[in-house]
Amino acid sequence: MVATIEETAENTVAVLDHGFVALDGALASDLAVVNAARVSFNARSEEMSERDEGLIRFLMRDRHGSPFEHGYFRFIVKAPIFVVREHHRHRAGHSYNEWSGRYSKLEAEYYVPDYVRTQVGKPGAYSFEPVDPEVREAAREELTAVAEHAFDAYERMLEQGVAKEVARMGLPLSLYTKYFWSCNPRSLMHFCSLRNSEQAQYEIREYARAAEAFLERLMPVTHAAFVAGGRVAP
Ligand SMILES: Cc1cc2nc3c(=O)[nH]c(=O)nc-3n(C[C@H](O)[C@H](O)[C@H](O)COP(=O)(O)OP(=O)(O)OC[C@H]3O[C@@H](n4cnc5c(N)ncnc54)[C@H](O)[C@@H]3O)c2cc1C
Repeated sequence: MVATIEETAENTVAVLDHGFVALDGALASDLAVVNAARVSFNARSEEMSERDEGLIRFLMRDRHGSPFEHGYFRFIVKAPIFVVREHHRHRAGHSYNEWSGRYSKLEAEYYVPDYVRTQVGKPGAYSFEPVDPEVREAAREELTAVAEHAFDAYERMLEQGVAKEVARMGLPLSLYTKYFWSCNPRSLMHFCSLRNSEQAQYEIREYARAAEAFLERLMPVTHAAFVAGGRVAP
């Protein structure tokens, strides 16, 4: 039997109501950054020293970005489609493979936000505030009803023999999907600088925060230099 993605995923961080970011594999270390830089002088470190930490801070500060490309993170992500649309805009140094709604039946799992907010201010400079509890409940009910109605229609069409690729057309943006996402430390930092940011939508920010925690765990010196440098990717 083929295991589903969740059954094989380790190192999983839960995100939103049904989503997650799971680190499926990684080849990423501060030492690899140092050695990619030191090859310029035909030199190599066997373990991190204070001098090596200083080198990483220098590379970050002076935006010598290429030594940060010799690492690899492979994630499995489960996220609502509207988050995926934002995520997949990140092209440079990112690879994606997604569950196909043409080949297999989609599951009736959709996101219902806990954090229902209103937007205040001008386009480009919005801030968000929670709505009153009764408005929050009504919005959650609306989103649930729309998703359930859409999924009922999807199943009816499938029962009538309509192809999956057609029946899926009425499904909502809140539907969860799953995908493989691979990136290198430099591209991950660029993603985190844009999406683990107050400017980004709350939901993708939660995914970026989860991914950034893996960067911090595997490459603590690099991550600290990234944060100290104002969260700008080199
Ligand atoms: C807060 C926020 C709001 C947004 N709003 C919108 C919106 O309203 N509509 C919308 O369509 N998108 C929107 N986006 C998406 C945004 O425009 C980018 O597509 C997304 O953030 C990916 O950024 P990127 O291109 O820098 O990343 P990547 O695609 O990973 O590229 C990384 C870097 O590589 C270089 N690069 C990549 N491709 C090219 C290229 N073709 N030519 C030259 N240089 C390249 C650039 O230096 C780029 O910064 C928004 C993003 C954020 C964070």
